[in-house]
Amino acid sequence: MTAQKTKPAPRPGVMDIAAYVPGKEHAPGVARVFKLSANETPLGPSPRAIEAFRAAAGQLERYPDGQAKELREAIASTFRLNAANILCGNGSDELLGLLCHVYLGPGDEGIVTEHGFLVYKIQIMAAGATPVTVKERDCRVDVDAILAAVTDRTRAVFIANPGNPTGTYVPVAEIRRLHAALPPHVLLVLDAAYAEYVRRNDYEAGLELVSSCQNVVMTRTFSKAYGLAALRLGWLYAPEHVIDALDRVRGPFNISAPGIAAGAAAMRDQAFIEQAVAYNALWIGRLAEAFEALGLRVTPSVANFVLIHFPEEDGRRAADADAFLTARGYILRAVRSYGFDNALRMSVGPEEANLGVIDALREFMGRA
Ligand SMILES: *Cc1c(COP(=O)(O)O)cnc(C)c1O
Repeated sequence: MTAQKTKPAPRPGVMDIAAYVPGKEHAPGVARVFKLSANETPLGPSPRAIEAFRAAAGQLERYPDGQAKELREAIASTFRLNAANILCGNGSDELLGLLCHVYLGPGDEGIVTEHGFLVYKIQIMAAGATPVTVKERDCRVDVDAILAAVTDRTRAVFIANPGNPTGTYVPVAEIRRLHAALPPHVLLVLDAAYAEYVRRNDYEAGLELVSSCQNVVMTRTFSKAYGLAALRLGWLYAPEHVIDALDRVRGPFNISAPGIAAGAAAMRDQAFIEQAVAYNALWIGRLAEAFEALGLRVTPSVANFVLIHFPEEDGRRAADADAFLTARGYILRAVRSYGFDNALRMSVGPEEANLGVIDALREFMGRA
């Protein structure tokens, strides 16, 4: 006879998952704090989104539209897509989880990359499947390494493009080369959370590939350039057979009514997004230049954050810099869990914070 269990036990594998740990938010004892640890925009959302959110407060007793039609149509008309190929989620995190639960199970493998977003691995394991991590090359996704890791058990490949926390990107030609070599039953998930910020003519978020293939999905978010992280809004663009499968599993009212209203208003205000992107482009260059002038190495970023590497040799380590900055009210993101022992990620912040971090790091590096 098997031993009696004394309490309910999670499915095998669940307790092997390392829970996601968000970046810190507080600097105890510091009066003025700038949170530069979660890639939130310093400009906030479009004022039209805030107005729409407030207006939604008048009908909180009513269930939202389970199809999120207004939001899907705003997205469809902005990107010239068919609304039937769009599914909205409670953050793109929810959509990544749905993809794993629908396409992966015990015995299956999902490929992720060395410095990839931790949510992929968590959701692959939550589905009972096995994450297979492939090396990156100099903080860049290595398409050949991914292809070498494909086995009979591979069901999905997850790529953040641009990558977080690296800020590097995979050019469209490389994405196409990867897709062409993948078996047609393997789902290629392109997480384009930072696509708005990219200004490179050899980059594509994935719209064309999704439109012309049966095994590619692109995920997007309202949490970054759109400034709506608190509302939890994401969307994906996928072939209809994928939408049909996900629709059967998702919560029937997974997007809130204030979320639908504010998201649609934000999406319609593309002029606001252009301003946010222009502000970011200005600072991403200035920050990289300033940090490099201090003897720090910065991974070239096309997103709204920079990965700052500290020199190994002179003992000025990332953990010490983190404490030094936190004591001055600048909260950056430690990235040890992403495979970087001696680096910090900094989101582009308001001007005052950007200049403050430059000054503080000048002092930390002994250049003041
Ligand atoms: C921030 C981020 C997201 C967005 O997640 P939400 O759940 O939409 O807030 C997705 N992928 C990556 C790589 C990110 O950095």
